[in-house]
Amino acid sequence: MLAPHPLPTQRRPSPPAAVVAAPAAVVAAPAAVVAAPAAGAGTPAANADPAAKTKPGAKGNRQLPLAGKVVGVDPGHNGRNWSDPAYIDHQIWNGRGWGDCNTTGTQTDGGYTEALFNWNVGSDLAADLRAEGARVVLTRHNNDGVGPCVNTRAQIFNRAHVDVAVAIHADGGPADGRGFTVLEPVADGINTAAIRPSYRFAAMLRDEFRAGTGMPISTYDGVDGLEPRDDLAGENLTKVPYALIECGNMRNATDAALLVSATFQRRAARAIAAAITAFLTRRR
Ligand code: ZN
Repeated sequence: MLAPHPLPTQRRPSPPAAVVAAPAAVVAAPAAVVAAPAAGAGTPAANADPAAKTKPGAKGNRQLPLAGKVVGVDPGHNGRNWSDPAYIDHQIWNGRGWGDCNTTGTQTDGGYTEALFNWNVGSDLAADLRAEGARVVLTRHNNDGVGPCVNTRAQIFNRAHVDVAVAIHADGGPADGRGFTVLEPVADGINTAAIRPSYRFAAMLRDEFRAGTGMPISTYDGVDGLEPRDDLAGENLTKVPYALIECGNMRNATDAALLVSATFQRRAARAIAAAITAFLTRRR
């Protein structure tokens, strides 16, 4: 779940207008947390000769599809954001305006938190991507902390020059609404160079998630599973191809039953990994 949606009239903003200069605070982000591929995550062949990852033609080694690629994974919110409201509520520049550093996220009626769902899918996704040879840059490394702020998450991806980045969320929508939505950026000067590939990635993410999870496209948000948003730091500040997925509606009983299941979480991670692999390996 994210900040409240913009007014309906603002949902489809036309391509912008002005380049918005970010304040100095935006660049004062902590050092990026870069996760090295986990030991043993690769195939035996890859582990036997790590140099193979940078030598596509190396003989005797199976070339992994994402060798040499860097992927950003942002599991939204954090498990203890509730414990530090002063920090979480402090205002950050989101590229177009001021907003909260972060939020607690939503939860199911049964109390299963969005932060935990996001973490489970994000960590499964990171493992899947590493198994395909990618280096993964995560914005957090467990579900027991506070933050980082949403602008910092974008800066982590920018600094690491990731090839593509995805943010994982689940929504807190109307109880009678079902399904998932992919939130796309809207050009603002900061992200403009990444808009076209972001839209290409977003469409792939929509298609792979629908095919791979059985979760329907949202009945209450976006158009055909896609929704441009100009009020979110991740969309506004990320300079690399980027999309955010609301994997389902935690306030809907049918969606919630799926979202809390480990099987669905694994499928969601695999579907997102398939979209990333398609984006990074397929010609247009
Ligand atoms: Zn969220």
